[in-house]
Amino acid sequence: MMSSQTKYIFVTGGVSSSLGKGIVAASLAKLLQAQGYKITIQKLDPYINVDPGTLNPYEHGECYVTNDGAETDLDLGHYERFLNVPTSQANNITTGRIYQSVISKERQGMYLGKTVQVIPHITDEIKENIKFLGSKGEFDIIITEIGGTVGDIESLPYVEALRQLRWEMGEDNLIVIHLTLIPYLSAAKELKTKPTQHSVKTLMESGVQADILVCRTEHELNDEIKEKLARFCNVNVDCVIESVDVNTIYDVPNHMYRERLDKVALKKLKLNYNKPDLNSWNNFLKKYKNPKNAIKIALIGKYVELQDSYKSILESFIHAGAVNEVEVNIVPLHSEFINSKNVHEKLESFNGILVAPGFGERGVEGKIEAIKYVRLNGIPFFGICYGMQMAVIEYARNVLDLHDANSTEVNPNTNNPVIDLMEEQKNITDKGGTMRLGSWACDIVKETLCHSVYKTESIDERHRHRYELNNKYLEQLHEKGLIASGKNKDTNLVEVVEIKNHPWFIGVQFHPEYKSTVLSPHPLFVSFVSAAILNKSK
Ligand code: GLN
Repeated sequence: MMSSQTKYIFVTGGVSSSLGKGIVAASLAKLLQAQGYKITIQKLDPYINVDPGTLNPYEHGECYVTNDGAETDLDLGHYERFLNVPTSQANNITTGRIYQSVISKERQGMYLGKTVQVIPHITDEIKENIKFLGSKGEFDIIITEIGGTVGDIESLPYVEALRQLRWEMGEDNLIVIHLTLIPYLSAAKELKTKPTQHSVKTLMESGVQADILVCRTEHELNDEIKEKLARFCNVNVDCVIESVDVNTIYDVPNHMYRERLDKVALKKLKLNYNKPDLNSWNNFLKKYKNPKNAIKIALIGKYVELQDSYKSILESFIHAGAVNEVEVNIVPLHSEFINSKNVHEKLESFNGILVAPGFGERGVEGKIEAIKYVRLNGIPFFGICYGMQMAVIEYARNVLDLHDANSTEVNPNTNNPVIDLMEEQKNITDKGGTMRLGSWACDIVKETLCHSVYKTESIDERHRHRYELNNKYLEQLHEKGLIASGKNKDTNLVEVVEIKNHPWFIGVQFHPEYKSTVLSPHPLFVSFVSAAILNKSK
């Protein structure tokens, strides 16, 4: 038995990937939090990258950044959006991180001449990382999601660590939820349980018995199917939970509540059940589902084909839309296909445009063209990170007449590097974990649009970048109307730019989307959406 009282709920996945373990984990966490339990969620990722910071969004969706500057899996974004509680590096473990630590201990001679092996050394390291979150005594329950699908070679050490932990902690302190798929065969008009039977068996081969099955399905499960699953998979019939497809991920907590997932989980853990208070959550849902108006926003970037690439931005618009009681229709536009000839036709129907974060040369000219168009036509503009940098380049080229103005990321030889590498970045060669990351303070200038949005003079926002606005150009930009309305006091880095005489034009060096949650929608998104509503009414 552990000394602390923290209990663990593990979530494993079977049959198929992309079943939404993160959403089920976050929804259960929400229900437990709404009963007064202190909860956090942890994601174990079996890939060998040390973190997803070096992964292309096409590979792995968005890279989410925490306050402490960890580059993490996008599921941590869901955890924060559902729970309204910040996560940290300790909430995301990868195989790369585990091996990095074990190998460095081996180099320090810490294994005292032993042969270093997957069991016990890798599994011990995994267990230590899992228990570390619980050791602080901050949480009643920790939900631990194992990435991938059971049976994957790379997730085996995690399942083995789970088996050992369950043995050590006991069944009252650690339970296992297995998320699985019940496919529907239209030819036979039947839901099929066999794949689930097999994945539960695969888990058992590793010595782990699932306590609860959460079954993703397109059709409702009748009692007969639930009984069959219970019988073949060694679980109580009230532990077979249906998770039928819903329109929004934010409906999942209510569905899991109706299916009593929280109740059966607490019963297994021998903890008290109280009716969850979901009032503020349901108020949000009511507003979200009953919009009084609709607006259209263009999201301009280069990873627009995949909805996971800009996950936090899309979710932030859902939160901000609910506050404004408006349906926000986001249309992704690929910046590579925008040019001076088609920009009017492509953008005229939008009530606002957002230029997304990004890296590298591809597609930047299209972003700059789009920004020129919205600047001249008074369409609300919101630039995030690279989007802010592109707004500065556009202004320098077209208002300051510095025609070759650029970022040195795009053109290292430009005569007008209005965006340049930060001083402390100049000698860095490693790509992983070396950007300016995490939460940094920013002072906001009074009587600016930014100040009217935040209604405070000091904020903290999360960052992920190497380049910055080159302060040599700040005076010229200011004289011509582009002002720095937010700055970091210590480093003098410009964090926010805006232009006067425009209905709503803001570029931010940081990523506000990482901090928007259901219960605390981000003020910049809320204000941008209301500017877009105003634009529509004109
Ligand atoms: N590529 C830019 C930089 O490194 C912007 C990064 C981003 O948009 N997150 O500064």
